[in-house]
Amino acid sequence: MIETDILIIGAGPTGLFAVFEAGLLKMKCHIIDALPQPGGQLAELYPKKPIFDIPGYPEVLAGDLVTNLMEQIKQFQPGFTLGETAKTIDKQEDGTFIVTTNKGTQHHAKAVAIAGGLGTFEPRKPQIPNIDVFEEKGVEYFVKDPEQFRHKDIVIAGGGDSALDWSIFLSDVAKSVTLVHRRNEFRGALDSVEKVRDLKAAGKINLVTPAEITEIHGDETVTAVTIEKEGEAFKLETDYFIPLFGLTPKLGPIANWGLEIEKNAIKVNNALDYQTNIDGIYAIGDVNTYPGKLKLILCGFHEATLMCQSVYNRINPGKRFVLKYTTVSGVDGFDGSRKEAEKAVVKAID
Ligand SMILES: Cc1cc2nc3c(=O)[nH]c(=O)nc-3n(C[C@H](O)[C@H](O)[C@H](O)COP(=O)(O)OP(=O)(O)OC[C@H]3O[C@@H](n4cnc5c(N)ncnc54)[C@H](O)[C@@H]3O)c2cc1C
Repeated sequence: MIETDILIIGAGPTGLFAVFEAGLLKMKCHIIDALPQPGGQLAELYPKKPIFDIPGYPEVLAGDLVTNLMEQIKQFQPGFTLGETAKTIDKQEDGTFIVTTNKGTQHHAKAVAIAGGLGTFEPRKPQIPNIDVFEEKGVEYFVKDPEQFRHKDIVIAGGGDSALDWSIFLSDVAKSVTLVHRRNEFRGALDSVEKVRDLKAAGKINLVTPAEITEIHGDETVTAVTIEKEGEAFKLETDYFIPLFGLTPKLGPIANWGLEIEKNAIKVNNALDYQTNIDGIYAIGDVNTYPGKLKLILCGFHEATLMCQSVYNRINPGKRFVLKYTTVSGVDGFDGSRKEAEKAVVKAID
């Protein structure tokens, strides 16, 4: 059982920043995310796009914002359960919660902050009749650990950034990489398209376009796929088939937790602390709704901050809280680090 003060569901920007604000108040956080990496939509949907409305950053790449948030919270040593979906929640008699994932990992927390964004991302699956038989037996919708593909033959399908980026990355890891796309044109970043073209010329990526995978073959695991190109079908031996056709968000298991839901989002008390209709469960960031709600990163940061103040009062009843500026108090990490502004030296003047 993983023990923590605040269990955060969702490692998007809102959930990550909540760790920092909780840390300032000496509360420990653990984060669960269904995706294999932190960053939420920023990491999964647009890591290379610039964001222009983060205060103090005239321009920042989404991926860099995630890297910076991870750096900022490192000192508060958050725990992570990645690649697992929070499935059930059980409120205990003492007001604490046990949250269990789809893989059975249990977390015990004094408060729960749902920062689930648009929900869990479900992969868009290609229409191949027996594809579900081979899921996790050679068919992979996410690249969780690139090492899994070392010295293996792999076939990637798709025409967006994920298909291009993973083809490039895995061309250095796998024995062979075949990229199949139903059009000749790709929808990814220009530099990625050019890189794939170069790797094709160097014989490191086998590019098959316009083409589609129409059949998967194998016994226990995938052994080959059928590729149809311009009316002709051929069989290609492979260890893995990785369809990367994008992800669709779904609120998922959280929708069954007895929370008040409106238009696929969780209703919260925005006048106070972003608590839901269940005492001790908060919802922050894109996942919540209230009059005037804006689904913006900076709004998630604000909501995370107020949520932490409320949890502090909940965990420490009767203890007076005094807001301190970090420029004045400095920041004491749980790892023993200390950051502080240089103090002015007062010297006596003779
Ligand atoms: C293309 C694009 C461009 C954008 N540009 C901007 C911009 O310029 N400025 C701006 O402010 N905003 C922008 N946004 C919106 C911004 O990305 C969101 O407001 C932000 O990501 C919300 O952060 P979040 O942490 O609340 O949720 P998310 O980033 O959605 O993260 C939620 C996380 O929760 C996880 N999760 C959900 N349910 C579960 C569960 N049951 N178990 C485990 N994990 C779960 C998901 O896997 C996900 O990783 C843009 C969005 C897109 C798609």
